[in-house]
Amino acid sequence: MTPPELTFTPSANIAQLKESATIAASQRAKALRAAGRPILDLGAGEPDFDTPPMIRKAAQVAIDSGATRYTATEGILPLRTAIAEQATARRGRGETITAAEVVVSNGSKQSLFNACFALFGPGDEVLIPTPSWTSYYEMVSLSRATPVAVRGDPARGFKVTPADLAAHATARSRGLMLNSPVNPTGSVYSRAELADLIAFARECGIWVISDEIYRRISYVGEAASALDVAESRDHLVVVDGIAKAYAMTGWRIGWSIAPAQLTKAMTAFQSHTTFNPSSVSQAAAVAALTGGAAVDETVTAMVAEFRKRRDAALAILATEPRIRVTPPDGAFYLFLQAPGAGKIPDAGTVFANRLLEEHDVAVVSGSAFQTPDWIRVSYATDLAQVESAMHRIVAAYRSA
Ligand code: PLP
Repeated sequence: MTPPELTFTPSANIAQLKESATIAASQRAKALRAAGRPILDLGAGEPDFDTPPMIRKAAQVAIDSGATRYTATEGILPLRTAIAEQATARRGRGETITAAEVVVSNGSKQSLFNACFALFGPGDEVLIPTPSWTSYYEMVSLSRATPVAVRGDPARGFKVTPADLAAHATARSRGLMLNSPVNPTGSVYSRAELADLIAFARECGIWVISDEIYRRISYVGEAASALDVAESRDHLVVVDGIAKAYAMTGWRIGWSIAPAQLTKAMTAFQSHTTFNPSSVSQAAAVAALTGGAAVDETVTAMVAEFRKRRDAALAILATEPRIRVTPPDGAFYLFLQAPGAGKIPDAGTVFANRLLEEHDVAVVSGSAFQTPDWIRVSYATDLAQVESAMHRIVAAYRSA
């Protein structure tokens, strides 16, 4: 008997899954560049700096001293202890955050997924301030819960308020995805704004997942952490990592800080999916977190460089007064309203395509963040390229 022909049809688990639009845009720009087009890539979501030398050195030493085997699922104790100590120092209030509340994962992306999968399920709704990072919607959907977009007001840099959340909260609301500084807008929530959102969630019995991956990259003083302002941590998962602050995107280390029971559940889940994150990367992360002034200086220098590029970019964009940009107070993104917004459908994608095809500038359409009239521009590339790309964006805007 001939076996039946097997063709791939996606399982129900991933039937609705969309490829990450940000990664797809970046890969398309890379492919065009490889084919010889002089593309200026402003699509990237990662610092263009090298990992600081003392961190690289620590990884080399770790390899040579045998840190090459499986580790505990939740990560090595020195790393979890360093994370817990930093969190305790932030938190204050006489509270101690212990290593038992920390899971180290393969990037904060996995930490976020662990949290979504452990907390949410069928029938649950999860509030997602919008625009926001494309993966939140997919992670919530993969957890079989329903993502509920809560659109912020562009006049407030798209930041949401408790009233915005209240307008979308129902008896089924189970989670709130917070992110500050925000990808894609660069908005930064103040301490008071963050405190109000977290207090609202606590009152409604909603879990808060606070993604603080860009917290070190702020131009308005230190960006607030949920640890600074949450009255209680019994409904709080704080997610952070080394990728953006230390220019370590490829090392894949992130973590969650959450109540011990939830941490246990996330550890069990991770033990069956990926197990421990790379042993060598964990050693490098210890060096990043415990490197003191030497490492901090490199972070400060990187943020200063980002600020220089941001200011240069804004100065060029300001030469065309019709260009609307949200106040870019953190991260390394500018969020611009596309020409034709509100008049032509998916104006952001139309503009992004034009920028790429006619002006050799790669950006990400706002449709990736559920705001199709906007585009996201990353300035995580050198100053000359940022300036040149901004001139092209102004020219494209004027000719639209
Ligand atoms: N959260 C946000 C808002 C991001 O923009 C990104 C990456 O672009 C991540 C999380 C993932 O970071 P990591 O490299 O630690 O997985």
